[in-house]
Amino acid sequence: MTSYRIAQLPGDGIGPECMNATRIVLDRMVADIPGLDLTFTSHHAGAQLYRETGETLPAAVLEDCIAADAVLLSAIGLPDVRHPDGTEVQPTMMVGLRRALNVHSAVRPVKLYPGAPCVLKEIGPGIDFVVIRENLEGRFASSGGGSKVGNEVATDTMVVTRKGTTQVSDFAFRLSQRRNGRPSDGNKMVTCVDKANVFRSLAFFREVFFDVAKSYPEIHSDAVYVDAMSLYMVQNPWDFDVLVMENQFGDILSDLGAGLVGGLGLGPSAEIGDVHGLFQPSHGTAPQLAGKNVANPLATILSAAMMLDWLGDKHNDNVCLEAGVALEAAVAELLRAGDVRTPDLGGTSSTTEVAEAVADLLALAAS
Ligand code: ATP
Repeated sequence: MTSYRIAQLPGDGIGPECMNATRIVLDRMVADIPGLDLTFTSHHAGAQLYRETGETLPAAVLEDCIAADAVLLSAIGLPDVRHPDGTEVQPTMMVGLRRALNVHSAVRPVKLYPGAPCVLKEIGPGIDFVVIRENLEGRFASSGGGSKVGNEVATDTMVVTRKGTTQVSDFAFRLSQRRNGRPSDGNKMVTCVDKANVFRSLAFFREVFFDVAKSYPEIHSDAVYVDAMSLYMVQNPWDFDVLVMENQFGDILSDLGAGLVGGLGLGPSAEIGDVHGLFQPSHGTAPQLAGKNVANPLATILSAAMMLDWLGDKHNDNVCLEAGVALEAAVAELLRAGDVRTPDLGGTSSTTEVAEAVADLLALAAS
C-alpha cells in the first residue's frame, strides 16, 4: 500500500472552513477505503501570517511542500493585507510557491454537473471543457517586479518562452488525449487562446503552440483571440474541449468559466509540473463569508479529487485513481439530488453539512 503525505495549507478567510470540510471527506475515505493511505501536515501560511510575522510562506513550510507528495491549499489572501507598494501579499506568495514547485500547467475544469445552477438559458449538449493556464510565465512573471518611473509611468512585462509554451501546449494535447472530446460532436480539440494580432509575445505563443500541435495530428488544433473566446464561452461553450493560454488570460477566463457552471464555489484546479502537484479551488478567500460556515466547500473537495487522480496516475495506484473517480461522482450525485447545498447554490446547508453529505454518499456508493 502506498502512503502519500499531503502538505495542507488552509490559508485565510473561508480557506480553513473549506479545508476542514475537505478533511471530513478525505478522512472518512481513508477510514473506509482499504489501501488508501493519506497523512497530512498542516501549516500556517498566507496573509494573516504575514500580518503577524511579516512572512507569508516561511522557508520550513516551503520545504515541507517540496518534500510532500502533493500540496492541498484552500485559499490565501486578505484584501487589507498588502505590501508597501500597494499590491496584495497573496500573488507574491502564490507565484513563489508555484515557481518553487515548478508547476507549469494549471488545469481548471469548466464542467456543468446536472442539477448545478447555470446562468445560460440553453445548455445545448452540455458544458465540459478545460482551461489550461500557463502557470509560471506570462503577465504574472512580472509579479513582484515591473517598474514605476516617478509617479507617472508604471510597466509590467509579459514573459513568453519557447520552453514554457511548449510545456503547457504539450500538457494540453496530452490532456485532450485522455478526454472524451467536445460535447457538441465528441471531437478532440485543443484551442490556443491569445492576442496574436497585437502582441509579439502572444504571436510567439501561438507559433510555438502550432509547432507542438504537429506532434498530435489526431487532435484538431486551432487558435482564437481572447476577446472572441470570452464571447464563445458564453454563446457556444459546448464547442470546446481544451483551451490553453497565457497565465493572466487563464486567470480571467477560468473565473468566467466557473461563472457559467455554478460559480466559484464549484471551480476546482490542479497545478501540475513534472514532479509536483498543487491543488486548490479557483476561488479566493471571500472574507465576507469567513467564519460563518456558509462557504461552498465543493471546489476544494473537487480539487482533492483531482489530487487523488494525479497521485494515482503518477504512482500507478488504482486505489487512489478509483478514489478520485468516486469522490467526483459523490459530488455529482449531491448536486443532482439538490437537497443539500450552500447558499451560493440557492440552498441553506452549511459548509459542514455539505461535507458530511458528500462523505455519506461515498459510503453509500461503496456499500
Ligand atoms: P482572488 O483574487 O483571491 O482569487 P476573488 O476576487 O476572485 O479572489 P473570491 O474571494 O474568490 O474573489 O470570491 C469572489 C466572490 O465569489 C466572493 O465574494 C463570494 O461571494 C463568491 N465565492 C467565492 N468562493 C466561494 C465559495 N467557496 N462559496 C461561496 N461563495 C464563494
